[in-house]
Amino acid sequence: MLNNDITIEQIESWLRETDEQKLKQLWDKADAVRKANVGDAVHLRGLIEVSNYCVRQCTYCGLASDNKDMTRYRMNADEIFACAQEAASYGYGTVVMQAGEDYGIESQWLADIVKRIKDNLPLAVTLSMGERPFEDLQHWRSAGADRYLLRFETSDTKLYKLIHPPLPRQTTDRFEILHHLKQLGYETGSGVMIGIPGQTFTTLAKDIHTFRKYDMDMVGVGPYIANPLTPLEQNGLNHEIAAKDQVKNTEMMTYKVIALTRLVCPESNIPSTTALATINKKSGRELGLSRGANVVMPNVTPVEYRTKYEIYPGKACLNETAKQCQGCLAARIASIGRTIGTGYGSRN
Ligand code: SAM
Repeated sequence: MLNNDITIEQIESWLRETDEQKLKQLWDKADAVRKANVGDAVHLRGLIEVSNYCVRQCTYCGLASDNKDMTRYRMNADEIFACAQEAASYGYGTVVMQAGEDYGIESQWLADIVKRIKDNLPLAVTLSMGERPFEDLQHWRSAGADRYLLRFETSDTKLYKLIHPPLPRQTTDRFEILHHLKQLGYETGSGVMIGIPGQTFTTLAKDIHTFRKYDMDMVGVGPYIANPLTPLEQNGLNHEIAAKDQVKNTEMMTYKVIALTRLVCPESNIPSTTALATINKKSGRELGLSRGANVVMPNVTPVEYRTKYEIYPGKACLNETAKQCQGCLAARIASIGRTIGTGYGSRN
């Protein structure tokens, strides 16, 4: 059955589906639901990777503070504003400022940058700064930030604790933060990695169902990409926590999750992610867009910094300039008969 009231059991059964003819029905349905609800426009969000400092120890992520092989950087305010200007000059409607959970990014400092962008450029501002205190989230919203991205990573609380240890003397509840973000009036986005060790088919089906339960405005999903410099990939932790019914971090599984997410969240903005483009550099972006996605996040970070924002190795578009990314994506979007969105591209 393929309707928007799809149950967790039905989602799981689609995740296990291997018959190409049946999967074609899923792609077609997701594409039709995408077209009917968010149209043919592909919204471009210019990604600025403002800092790779992080206080966290997420076992999957190269930015984790214990990774001593990483050269750390934090962009200054003028550099960030110049990236936003460049994004606006290409007609992008949004900039996404993303960073590790970096308390060197002070609340007032970021609020000033948000305000400067909002006062001077025709851009929506999305933030992705991790689990910052509620006061910071409120401060940035008052400064004009429109959206906030915080993936819950997995709905399995036991697995979450294994892959995302809390800071000393703190609990970590991303669902509570997502609720608070909504109350503050942010358009709120979340998501998960596909195929992270310990993720079962049932867990992933519940994750997808959770996107609808929390009525997410944006949902980002991409494959888990193993990073040899992380605890998960060292000392056999990945094998230790792998589930009997482990989901694989494949391209095909990623398309299934994008398509099913579109069915459960017809109006959400769903990116065809860089992680997907990393595992299929040739056509991953286009296939994601043809199977439910309607957003792409071209990188506008200066190359000298983006090569240091190494969450995982081999990231797509690592050495391309912002201008090259813009030209490449415009051609890819045109090649599948879609148009480039104008304006903020907010949820309808
Ligand atoms: N610090 C912010 C946070 O935690 O939300 C934003 C930065 S964090 C690097 C952005 C996202 O990268 C995470 O939510 C996670 O899903 C993704 N990510 C981290 N390591 C990854 C990996 N090895 N493979 C794929 N995605 C990964």
